[in-house]
Amino acid sequence: MNKDNGIDVIVVGGGASGLFAAGSAAAAGARVVLIEKGERLARKLLITGKGRCNLTNAECLEEFITNYGDNGKFLYRAFHEFFNNDLIEFFKSYGVETKVERGGRVFPVSDRAETIVSALERYARDNGVEIWLSTRVSAVAVDEKGRIRGVKVFAAQNDAAGVKLIKSRAVILATGGLSYPVTGSTGDGYAMARKVGHSIEPLLPALVGLETSDSFVKRLQGLTLKNVRVTVFSGAKEAASGFGEMLFTHFGVSGPVVLRLSGEVAARIYKNEKMEMSVDLKPALGNEQLHARLMREFDAHGLKSFYNVVKLLLPASMVPVFVERSGLPAERQCCRITRKERENVVRLLKDFRFHISRTRPIEEAIVTRGGVNLRQINPRTMESLIVKGLYLCGEVIDIDGVTGGYNLQAAFSGARLAGVSAAQKGGSS
Ligand SMILES: Cc1cc2nc3c(=O)[nH]c(=O)nc-3n(C[C@H](O)[C@H](O)[C@H](O)COP(=O)(O)OP(=O)(O)OC[C@H]3O[C@@H](n4cnc5c(N)ncnc54)[C@H](O)[C@@H]3O)c2cc1C
Repeated sequence: MNKDNGIDVIVVGGGASGLFAAGSAAAAGARVVLIEKGERLARKLLITGKGRCNLTNAECLEEFITNYGDNGKFLYRAFHEFFNNDLIEFFKSYGVETKVERGGRVFPVSDRAETIVSALERYARDNGVEIWLSTRVSAVAVDEKGRIRGVKVFAAQNDAAGVKLIKSRAVILATGGLSYPVTGSTGDGYAMARKVGHSIEPLLPALVGLETSDSFVKRLQGLTLKNVRVTVFSGAKEAASGFGEMLFTHFGVSGPVVLRLSGEVAARIYKNEKMEMSVDLKPALGNEQLHARLMREFDAHGLKSFYNVVKLLLPASMVPVFVERSGLPAERQCCRITRKERENVVRLLKDFRFHISRTRPIEEAIVTRGGVNLRQINPRTMESLIVKGLYLCGEVIDIDGVTGGYNLQAAFSGARLAGVSAAQKGGSS
């Protein structure tokens, strides 16, 4: 226990990871203070899963970990200690029943994120966590030997009133990322970590819509395509690919499959690579099969116009744009379409391509890609390898997953490990 004020562990940030880390540290016997700059706890958590909170996924560990790209392996220890079933059991012990939906997504039976937030708050308070709202941490304080001293907070609501040091043996930084800043995630933790020697991997939007400068794409606004294969290219090289549903918007494209690919696109645009997106509109058919299908349609409707036969193949709102892109006159009778022209149509159906100019801004992203460099964090404890007694968890570290409950599970698992480790540190002399 800290001699000056009795605080063992200070948790900075009262979101998903902060609340759970605080509860876990307190349950492990530490005297914990959680500091949240907002007037309310967990504002982002309240809007997760469209207000229903997709808290985790029912997948097995080996599959689960593939949803975070190369950085996923950092999470093995945290998941080994506390995984999806443990999380489900934890919420059950706080009276929150869960259900599994399509794709293994786990939601509270109530369909309300509030039940998750209130369970987390009860967990923290029941274990004696002291919660300070409307208090902004400005820095983590480190002594000359590189050990944590505590945090600096603004003394009053009025930042100009100056800062004061709150001492503790351990600090857990759980300040979140940069996306949806109205919820309080304004990236403060990155600056604080950088100031004490951490390096920050480039902060980019992930799980975000993608913009195009091609005007024909914008004419498709409102169109949803289900079961399409979407591939992104950097020059001639395939960068990533996915299958599922996409949506055309006023700025370009969005929807589940696009969001899944967006982090990779953001990273490549950051490196100045020129990106294109290709949509396979008929992924179930190979080139030969599609060619045969077109021949059948053109034979059966030989006197009909090309435009009218394309209507049999594609959603109505896509037809004018598709016909225009094919370069064939809309009124051309099908019986007069040559083999070469047919091959072009097949190519366009398999590779409907456009440029991606940039991502939507990070404010609109569901998560932040990048963050505190994982090589500077001990994956067995979540302790900083630079500052002894500093722990990091949640979106502030360089982990981001796809949609499906992966980001929250990473936040909760990291928080459990950080909380328990910090309690051991904070309680020892
Ligand atoms: C619209 C939307 C929907 C989402 N849906 C899902 C979903 O269904 N499933 C899923 O797995 N993930 C989802 N996510 C992602 C998930 O919400 C985040 O990954 C998760 O909330 C990260 O938790 P965190 O505790 O690290 O950060 P946050 O939840 O952002 O919490 C950080 C907290 O720190 C506080 N803070 C920041 N700086 C300071 C400071 N200087 N002093 C004091 N306090 C500070 C903030 O006010 C905030 O309360 C969604 C995200 C968004 C934006």
